[in-house]
Amino acid sequence: MLKINNLHASVEDKTIIQGLDLEVKPGEVHAIMGPNGAGKSTLGYVLSGRDGYEVSEGSVELEGADLLDMEVEERAQAGLFLAFQYPVEIPGVSNMEFMKESVNAIREQQGKESLTAAEFLKKAKAACKQVQLPLDFLKRGVNEGFSGGEKKRNEIMQMILLEPKLAILDESDSGLDVDALQVVADGVNSQRDGERSFIVVTHYQRLLDYIKPDFVHILADGKIVKSGDASLAHEVEKSGYAFLGKKYEEAE
Ligand code: ADP
Ligand code: MG
Ligand code: MG
Repeated sequence: MLKINNLHASVEDKTIIQGLDLEVKPGEVHAIMGPNGAGKSTLGYVLSGRDGYEVSEGSVELEGADLLDMEVEERAQAGLFLAFQYPVEIPGVSNMEFMKESVNAIREQQGKESLTAAEFLKKAKAACKQVQLPLDFLKRGVNEGFSGGEKKRNEIMQMILLEPKLAILDESDSGLDVDALQVVADGVNSQRDGERSFIVVTHYQRLLDYIKPDFVHILADGKIVKSGDASLAHEVEKSGYAFLGKKYEEAE
């Protein structure tokens, strides 16, 4: 599904990602943890193709295609979803219209028929219910005046509607309450089907009590320094990142 090979990337001339390797197979859920400033969010931004993030070395393949060569919209159409891909407020465009266009653009790319307004409305209402947002959210302007928790629920609703092949969620700094965490976890769990893959960036071990990852990776100094199963997350919760060396002993 996703193959990252020896990735090096910088922002503002500062090298952040330094030789990162990661392989995600269809249906797998990978959690990425790591100390603050390790480069977790940067990795997400690089994969999403955000402006200002330069790749100097390495490769990223999504289902065998060169991801780094694609425009941002092409990445979404190739089946990649990043929770922070649509962070901007778009006043005057309703959530509903925005999502319908996005979903149909992706369906077109995949050779599927467009959803009619009625078909989409039905799906959107179900998704809205699932993430515990009132239905009038569909009529609101995209992200217009949403609270932190509402934005998060809206993001998960977008993920449910877009049915991506690979979703990357960054929950590092979002300060979510338990209800919102459960909405995130339920969104992921409801989409797990043995085909779709997920990368969940988090420093809440608690989130991983609800989303059982197949693999846990520790990212430090711009690369993955340790990988294991879900028990690695428990280890980190108990002992922090001291095992990474002196520099991290007091980090968390
Ligand atoms: P994490 O998500 O793991 O906490 P980030 O990816 O946000 O870490 O940041 C990794 C490092 O890159 C940090 O040292 C951070 O200060 C630096 N960094 C991030 N964005 C920028 C930027 N726009 N300009 C300069 N440095 C940045
Ligand atoms: Mg951070
Ligand atoms: Mg971060």
